[in-house]
Amino acid sequence: MASPKEIRPPFAGLGGHTPEELFHRLPTPCYILDEAALRRNGEILAQVASHTGCKILLAQKAFSNYDLYPVLEPFLAGTEASGLYEARLGAEEMPGKEVHVFCGAYRDREFEELLLYADHIVFNSPGQLAHFGPQAKKAGKSIGLRINPECSTQEGHEIYDPCAPGSRLGTTRAQWDRTMTPELLCLLDGLHFHTLCEQDSDALETTLLAVEKHFGHVLPQMKWLNFGGGHHITRPGYDILRLERRIRTAQEKWDVQVYLEPGEACALNAGYLASRVLDVIQNGNTHIAILDSSAACHMPDVLEMPYRPPLFCAEEAGILPYTFRLGGPTCLSGDVIGDYSFDAPLQEGDLLLFGDMAIYTTCKNNTFNGMPLPDIHVLHSNGQLECLRTFDYSDFKYRLGRPDV
Ligand SMILES: *Cc1c(COP(=O)(O)O)cnc(C)c1O
Repeated sequence: MASPKEIRPPFAGLGGHTPEELFHRLPTPCYILDEAALRRNGEILAQVASHTGCKILLAQKAFSNYDLYPVLEPFLAGTEASGLYEARLGAEEMPGKEVHVFCGAYRDREFEELLLYADHIVFNSPGQLAHFGPQAKKAGKSIGLRINPECSTQEGHEIYDPCAPGSRLGTTRAQWDRTMTPELLCLLDGLHFHTLCEQDSDALETTLLAVEKHFGHVLPQMKWLNFGGGHHITRPGYDILRLERRIRTAQEKWDVQVYLEPGEACALNAGYLASRVLDVIQNGNTHIAILDSSAACHMPDVLEMPYRPPLFCAEEAGILPYTFRLGGPTCLSGDVIGDYSFDAPLQEGDLLLFGDMAIYTTCKNNTFNGMPLPDIHVLHSNGQLECLRTFDYSDFKYRLGRPDV
């Protein structure tokens, strides 16, 4: 492989070494979580909190590798959960810190247990608030309602836009006017919105104007306002000063405690997926490398979002002399990671290192086609590698049926 050129994020953690130098002993495919990069993200987030007095939570749906929660914990106020299991994980693995939960709809048979773990419970609708709110209030919980400010600030990613027309996420002002009663309003401690995805603070600014327009009348009665996630705070170039101004303004204008619950920003550029080339083939003018990792199984957002993940020492197609399409070993025709160019032709056995693989990967992967789950390692700040978890046939089989006796 070529010599390293990229020592900036997402490959800063390699410290100028090649992937082969650092990781040649690890069986592939495998994820490698980068402790130092996580800590750097935590430090950036903690600065925002200390400059403004806001509280920042880890949205666990993006990153739930609890072995590394102790790295983030000193910088955060707690965790955010999408339901019972994540709430329990947050309570178990970041003990003593706040647990917040939002779910599109809660189930009766889970709610009692949820009350054991969650401090803040956010409902999606006045109906859910009416159904569960009194019980949660009696249990001493802080209660919120997710609002929909009906302000789309992103284009092209409709599945990530909770403000898209007809969205089921959050209560619109019209729905509020139809269904909120004084009794329901009495239950509320705060409001929650989550409308951004990988965005800068200009989109937050626009969103806050819509929040004020539709819900400014009730905000002075609230104790807190949760700005949700999607703030790309730890991305180089993100306008942190504007974020801090908007937080301060909200806190002063409405006398609320502001919460942020980023997922991506907590673990951005804090992990790798190491993969080897299994075969090289050609179809017409297209040179193709088949890897031992799969977009569909091991980096599903590459197909769902979709996006093209960063790859160490590779460029966009056509920039360097040798362009290859990288694909997985599954039967899915679209199991393609992307087209990349290299200094030298790829060969069987080459080690490829994808960047920014800590988020929406280990917590979202699957065993479609009976693909093995990649092992999970951590690269500690002192340069030591530690294996956190290996997977085998039983992880595939026993998710599907009756255990052998
Ligand atoms: C997804 C989500 C988050 C985290 O979003 P990121 O884009 O990973 O920052 C936070 N809060 C809620 C309610 C979410 O659904």
